[in-house]
Amino acid sequence: MKAEIDLHSHSTASDGTLRPKELVAKAAEIGLRCLALTDHDTTAGLAEALAAGKEYGVEIIPGCELSVDFQSGIMHIVGLWISPTSPNLNAVLECLRDDRLTRNQRILQKLANLGICISYDELSEMVQDEKSSIGRPHIARVLIRQGIVPDVKTAFQEYLGTGKKAYVPKMKLPPEVAIETLKADNATVILAHPYSLSLPLDETETVLKKLQSYGLDGLEVYYPLHSLKEREQYGEIAERLGLLVSGGSDFHGSVKPDISLGTGKSNLAIPYEIIQKMKDYRTAKGLPLVIS
Ligand code: AMP
Ligand code: ZN
Ligand code: FE
Ligand code: FE
Repeated sequence: MKAEIDLHSHSTASDGTLRPKELVAKAAEIGLRCLALTDHDTTAGLAEALAAGKEYGVEIIPGCELSVDFQSGIMHIVGLWISPTSPNLNAVLECLRDDRLTRNQRILQKLANLGICISYDELSEMVQDEKSSIGRPHIARVLIRQGIVPDVKTAFQEYLGTGKKAYVPKMKLPPEVAIETLKADNATVILAHPYSLSLPLDETETVLKKLQSYGLDGLEVYYPLHSLKEREQYGEIAERLGLLVSGGSDFHGSVKPDISLGTGKSNLAIPYEIIQKMKDYRTAKGLPLVIS
């Protein structure tokens, strides 16, 4: 099957390495009909992506991805059809980015204490603008450039990963706050890469029911790191709970060289039907399909 859509991707507005326009051009080149840009904690890339979508004939769904506070594994929430100019959502995202600024400065201080000198400007230069979100992958890239580590994986293993030499935790919203903030902006809210919760299937289902009670709409069933078996199992859970099925590559460009846009392991070829079902769901709720 041919990849038709990709509902999870990152640009230089956060920790991806392609500018939004370059990302959309790549989507067009590989024949995608629809792409969601879902940068971490920012809407900074969306205007450029929406304009490029018109130019290249790719339908762009404006989105973002939030890390939320959860006791097990890693929980990320993706909002689709967010409004790039929403005052309320942007105020929340700005607060998260302010925390990142303090956190990044603390990480750089810890690295300095280890004799590794990185200036904040080296990080700022990698992103699109001052409303972009800077994180550990940017610091990892500088560590590689300075010859301190060979790759991103080692940067996390030795310095940036949880509990490592230069680790500093990040502020995370409670799941209900993240979901309610996105829903207040008319977003369709998806639990990203459920494998990263690191929970058995029955506990994953219990967690999803709880998130659904906060307003969760869907589950990212198609994901490059899900095996075919996991895709099937998550698909069954989504069906049982009446959740929308979503899917995306989580493309980041060269910082995650194993992940490619639209395609991926387990023949990640997401059919247009997935987005059509989301559109029907939104239409039934009277929610807009075109956001500019
Ligand atoms: P941050 O938002 O600054 O905490 O950074 C999170 C980003 O770092 C996400 O894009 C993750 O995929 C990436 N990341 C987290 N752990 C690792 C790891 N061990 N190796 C490579 N990338 C990682
Ligand atoms: Zn990322
Ligand atoms: Fe994620
Ligand atoms: Fe992501």
